[in-house]
Amino acid sequence: MKEIIEGFMDLVKERNGHEPEFLQAVEEVAETVIPYIVQHDIYHGKNILLRMAEPERAITFRVCWVDDSGEIQVNRGYRIQMNSAIGPYKGGLRFHPTVNMSILKFLAFEQVFKNSLTTLPMGGGKGGSDFDPKGKSDNEIMRFCHAFMSELFRHIGPNTDIPAGDIGVGAREIGFLFGMYKKLRNEFTGVLTGKGMSWGGSLIRPEATGYGTVYFAQNMLEVKGDSFEGKKVVISGSGNVAQFAAEKALQLGAKVLTLSDSSGYIYDEDGIDADKLKYVMHLKNEERGRISEYVNEYPNAKFVKGKTPWEIKCDIALPCATQNELNEEDAQTLIDNGCICISEGANMPSTKEAVHTFHKAKILFAPGKASNAGGVATSGLEMTQNSLRYKWTREEVDNKLKEIMADIHQSCIEYGTEEDGYIDYVKGANIAGFVKVADAMLAQGIV
Ligand code: NDP
Repeated sequence: MKEIIEGFMDLVKERNGHEPEFLQAVEEVAETVIPYIVQHDIYHGKNILLRMAEPERAITFRVCWVDDSGEIQVNRGYRIQMNSAIGPYKGGLRFHPTVNMSILKFLAFEQVFKNSLTTLPMGGGKGGSDFDPKGKSDNEIMRFCHAFMSELFRHIGPNTDIPAGDIGVGAREIGFLFGMYKKLRNEFTGVLTGKGMSWGGSLIRPEATGYGTVYFAQNMLEVKGDSFEGKKVVISGSGNVAQFAAEKALQLGAKVLTLSDSSGYIYDEDGIDADKLKYVMHLKNEERGRISEYVNEYPNAKFVKGKTPWEIKCDIALPCATQNELNEEDAQTLIDNGCICISEGANMPSTKEAVHTFHKAKILFAPGKASNAGGVATSGLEMTQNSLRYKWTREEVDNKLKEIMADIHQSCIEYGTEEDGYIDYVKGANIAGFVKVADAMLAQGIV
């Protein structure tokens, strides 16, 4: 089996040798899906995973805009349309200086499996730009978003490709992007998700990724007869996903000890309670400040510069910042400190070695493509409401989100339970995601 997987990876490397994050994401899937393909004649010998590892379309484009001092700036825009076998392309836009083809192809590849797991009819895509929103004025953000959409609009549409937010793209950016799309197309459609509540957005969409990550962890804990009540939770990131993961963990009776950003992490031994979290939301979303400022407001807490929070003793860890933010050493530290459950809010935050370490210790570990799927699932629910010209209540959407997370959890159990009863959620998520897309691709022929 090892040789078959290596042979497959050699083919993928030949074409994508300079894309380490993409290769990492494909290898993780190959390790679990290829053994399944080999055992199932309908998939065997059809190069189906190789087809999935090649984007149906990858678009790059120039984005020119004028900054506040009158300088002309040039950025690069991207949209990767990875797979549309089960529905129109769907996936977020990331604005961050590290954005490149490798990062977006890894995210688009993951998105295909994640969207398949949600049970909703959505293909996978991802896009973004190397534009850095940090330190930019609202006017600069608007000019950039308008310039970005003035090209992207020809490649997307409510039945073709429906982008959403990701790192650096929140409600403000979605508004500017939507405004330009509407002007250019002269139509009001659900072409983006994460829209404002008064113009087509869905209740619970802002909360969905963070809430879903916690619901998934709750499902995993329930299998062991356990819960969030009284647990110590360590969270990385302080953006959209981290904020609402913290909110839900608090609602379920846990104590949240940390949050972070790319400068370091804050550790509040007394716990980040609902009031403190409200302050963080204001600091990050309105003031657009840094997490280190938390200690000015709450001097009992400490800021640890340049580090990730995995050294803090906890029961549950929720990585909610970015890819490869938790390595093998961090994984071992978490295990040694008694952590029993890791649910990924971010995409691929754990390195391959970290994932193997969690599996070796047989502790609960949920990969992002399963545990953070609540965001895109609720985007799917936003699309449904847009099509129906109707709006569901907060409770209705939240209940559907809970149901979807429970369904994903069940699929992982179905395909990931080992002989000794240990649930390999990585294997479960990869195979369950694969089967639905592969079946659709087989039915549609070689296209
Ligand atoms: P935000 O932009 O709201 O927040 C990102 C957070 O991660 C910030 O605290 C940021 O800190 C931190 N961060 C970003 N890059 C780095 C880095 N290189 N090192 C350390 N910290 C970093 O993004 P989201 O919360 O939306 O996204 C977080 C993760 O969740 C991403 O992996 C994203 O792909 C994933 N995700 C998001 C979904 C969504 O619905 N938004 C859906 C599914 C997954 P700083 O301000 O210093 O950059």
